[in-house]
Amino acid sequence: MKILVINTGSSSIKYQLFDMAKETVLATGMAERLGSDAGTLSHTVTAMDSAPKTIEITENLDHARGLARIAALLMDETHGVIKDTSDIAAVGHRVVHGGETFQDPRIIDQSVLDEIEKNTPLAPLHNPANLTGIRVAGSVFPTAPQAAVFDTAFHQTLPQKAYMYALPHDLYDTHRVRRYGFHGTSHAYVAGKAATFLNTPLDRLNLITLHLGNGASATAIRNGRSVDTSMGLTPLEGLVMGTRSGDVDPAIPFFLSRHLNMSLDEIDAIFNRQSGLKGLCGENDMRRVLEKAAAGDDRARLALDVYTYRIKKYIGAYFAVLGRVDALVFTGGIGENASDVRERCCRGLAGLGIEVDPVRNKDAAALPRRISPGSTSVAVLVVPTDEELEIARQTQKKVLE
Ligand code: ADP
Repeated sequence: MKILVINTGSSSIKYQLFDMAKETVLATGMAERLGSDAGTLSHTVTAMDSAPKTIEITENLDHARGLARIAALLMDETHGVIKDTSDIAAVGHRVVHGGETFQDPRIIDQSVLDEIEKNTPLAPLHNPANLTGIRVAGSVFPTAPQAAVFDTAFHQTLPQKAYMYALPHDLYDTHRVRRYGFHGTSHAYVAGKAATFLNTPLDRLNLITLHLGNGASATAIRNGRSVDTSMGLTPLEGLVMGTRSGDVDPAIPFFLSRHLNMSLDEIDAIFNRQSGLKGLCGENDMRRVLEKAAAGDDRARLALDVYTYRIKKYIGAYFAVLGRVDALVFTGGIGENASDVRERCCRGLAGLGIEVDPVRNKDAAALPRRISPGSTSVAVLVVPTDEELEIARQTQKKVLE
């Protein structure tokens, strides 16, 4: 069964085509700057005996033309991996906000589309883009059922005390203002992998999972279910991220508005696009931050300090929430690759049973691995995430139901 996984942004489409027989990636790529004259499409075929082959295209593309172009490349005579669009058995979509409606993936029909639309005020940038992706995929792959896999779904098990903000109750009753949490597909995937690695059923494990990519979030998992998570109504809350502030005093926007006359849009841009690592040291890419810090740049060092200190606070908080922690799991581009960041997050936590073995921590294998010494009560693990594969699996499961 071949499943195409699509992640549609406001000006981009990322995709991977899986052959589910062996869960292999046949082709992968990304169309960017959609809606401009200089849309680009980078398509890599990975299913050949030879090395992966990448084709780059620049032309006037919107979402519809972009996906049609992707389909054409997938069927291309020399580099194609399918013969006809009907070879795609299903299309799985990453949908950012499922609100309180969706606790698990859904096969998309009109009622699901209506509900995603209804949740748009909660994710005004993401959900409309996801809907565009679904509409376009419906016309390019007319025979394939489509499934929606929600970033918020895994966190729908949060208890009320964890998801309610201490705001007037009416804001929840009428407008559903509450904590939702995101990166659910990734937290769920690495939790499952950690359970396999530890050879213990997931429903007997308490975990703290740290997804550290461009966005970043922490999740407390009790007996396999999410019970708290650091992102909130939107993905802005919680950890320090590439360009997002994470937790701040909620009165700072009042200050910026009253004293600096900033508009809501300006404040939004500051918190979402000009803050985080970028705001602290001018670089949003962790590799650059680490390079600059190593070269003695004070702001980069400070950014690293603030970034890892915030994570450490969440580890402490979630330890208190869970009472017992079996494993602390690092994932995402930073969590999987930045040994220095991992070491800093765990430094001084031996009292909680959290320690990092310096030699194991430097091991760069792209497999689930333990980086704590064998004797500690908390296993510190690095588990590479694969959100696309998880979406493909969930889509397959839904289609076969
Ligand atoms: P996204 O959230 O967009 O999927 P990723 O999970 O790929 O992003 O994470 C991107 C982050 O991972 C960037 O900050 C990048 O610098 C960081 N990263 C990737 N590789 C390394 C590495 N070898 N060392 C440190 N950081 C890395």
